[in-house]
Amino acid sequence: MSPIGGNLQAVLRRIETAARAAGRRPDEVRLLAVSKTWPAAAVEEAYRAGQRMFGENQQQEAASKIAALARLALEWHFIGPIQSNKTRPIAEQFAWIHSLDREKVARRLSEQRPVGLEPLMVCIQVNVSGEASKSGVPPHAVEALARRVAALPNLRLRGLMTIPAPSADDERQRAQFRELRALYDALRVQGMSLDTLSMGMSDDLEAAILEGSTLVRVGSAIFGRRARKASAIA
Ligand SMILES: *Cc1c(COP(=O)(O)O)cnc(C)c1O
Repeated sequence: MSPIGGNLQAVLRRIETAARAAGRRPDEVRLLAVSKTWPAAAVEEAYRAGQRMFGENQQQEAASKIAALARLALEWHFIGPIQSNKTRPIAEQFAWIHSLDREKVARRLSEQRPVGLEPLMVCIQVNVSGEASKSGVPPHAVEALARRVAALPNLRLRGLMTIPAPSADDERQRAQFRELRALYDALRVQGMSLDTLSMGMSDDLEAAILEGSTLVRVGSAIFGRRARKASAIA
């Protein structure tokens, strides 16, 4: 087995163990392989090991990989900050966006989603830690944005996403995941049919799964430590 294939198996085992510990079925948690900074060859290696969903956080970097790998049946997820002037290529090239946090961007994505493609699947990014430097809407603004996004014709709101403040304190980390879960449950109680809670990364996927994550976004545990600092992990 290739090194990436071995890492992928190890991550799938971590997901399975965490899900069982939480009394959940392992297939309730999907794995998004975050391939930012890694070349198309690394994505292809993961593909050969069975992985189909890949996450990128920079549009231009992603575009060249998507083009190079167009022959493979991959599902691309955009997870980085979205500049208004980059919405068109994102609307054209991706199946999912996890990092939506502005209505203006949502409207542009819906308008620019090409006719004939499925609606763009969307998660709203929430800034649960309240750090000023972080992207994401504050918790009190989630519901209003969710209603506007749900009304757009070419977007389909699937759920919420967060990147918590890193914390060595496991309880503090879990509290942030729990807050996202509570926001998600509240939207569902109000009748929104959401099915995706995008939370958990290489270092904290177990905590996220215990708190109800349905999709973990994992980069370094699959591909290795990034040489370039993930500039846009905001
Ligand atoms: C880079 C990134 C990840 C993956 O982080 P790892 O710690 O490498 O697993 C997940 N989510 C977002 C939004 C990212 O930018």
